[in-house]
Amino acid sequence: MIVWDMKSRRTEMSNLDVRNCEVCKTNFDWNDELDGCLDIEEILDCSDTQINKWQEQNKNIDLQSYFCSECANKTIQAIEENQDDT
Ligand SMILES: [Zn+2]
Repeated sequence: MIVWDMKSRRTEMSNLDVRNCEVCKTNFDWNDELDGCLDIEEILDCSDTQINKWQEQNKNIDLQSYFCSECANKTIQAIEENQDDT
C-alpha cells in the first residue's frame, strides 16, 4: 500500500515543470498558464523603440525568458508606458 502511494506521488511531482522568473527569480509551474509566461516581447503592444529604450535601462533582463505572471504584467506596463518620456 505504502509503496504504491509513494509511486503515485512521484508521478505527480514529475508533472511539475518548474521555471524560474527572469525578474524576481521565483519558481513557478510552467504547466499552469496563469502562473507565468515566456517571451513577453511577443505580446508587447508597443514599438521597437520603446522596447529598446527599456532594454537599455534593464540590461540584465531578457525579455525572451520566463516571467511569473506578476513580473510579466509589471514589465509589460513599464515598457508600454515608456513612450511618455520621449
Ligand atoms: Zn517574477
